[in-house]
Amino acid sequence: MRVLIAEDDPVLADGLTRSLRGAEYAVDCVASGDQADHILISQNYDLVILDLGLPKLDGYEVLKRLRRRGAKVPVLVLTARDALDDRVRGLDLGADDYLTKPFDLPELEARARALIRRGQAGGSSILEHGPLALDVSGRRATLNGSPLDLSARELGVLEVLMMRSGRVVNKDQLAGQLYGWEEEVGPNAIEVYIHRLRRKLESAGVTIRTIRGLGYLLERP
Ligand code: CA
Repeated sequence: MRVLIAEDDPVLADGLTRSLRGAEYAVDCVASGDQADHILISQNYDLVILDLGLPKLDGYEVLKRLRRRGAKVPVLVLTARDALDDRVRGLDLGADDYLTKPFDLPELEARARALIRRGQAGGSSILEHGPLALDVSGRRATLNGSPLDLSARELGVLEVLMMRSGRVVNKDQLAGQLYGWEEEVGPNAIEVYIHRLRRKLESAGVTIRTIRGLGYLLERP
């Protein structure tokens, strides 16, 4: 799951980034409205955390442009204390939720999780594929009802494959979902995660096929 944070307060931005990375999200962070607008044109996110008071282009304008382009990504707006007008205006412009500063990080994580869940197709947080089930918000997977022991990144790879089951997913798409910009993606990392997943899933007949030159396909037996 990818999250964009647009926040110009470096201390808050750093705290948010750490907190969400700790919750296994791939996080990108920008400090101005024009950067946010620019990256939202070219990149897909599962959630945007948007401060309204941003330099260059304010958060309202970023939000307005985002919705004008038809983007449905959930947006969590951050507002100054007691700025009721800001909240109302943010929600009017298409924000999905807001948090008033200062807030607790666990509260933010809970809101983020809820919004990402709501943003998923059908609003369901459980992905199912044959004997395999993955609880997106709870970060747990089961095989034939028994818990599957997966690392955070194995779970991330599996999540992308399940969300696009029956379609080929290329390495760049998998890497893009797993890492923020600042983290380096080793050339063989995705292959390693796929290899481990295969070993854990093969007993139940769940197959991840390699489509040479294209990527990977989660296939039902
Ligand atoms: Ca600000």
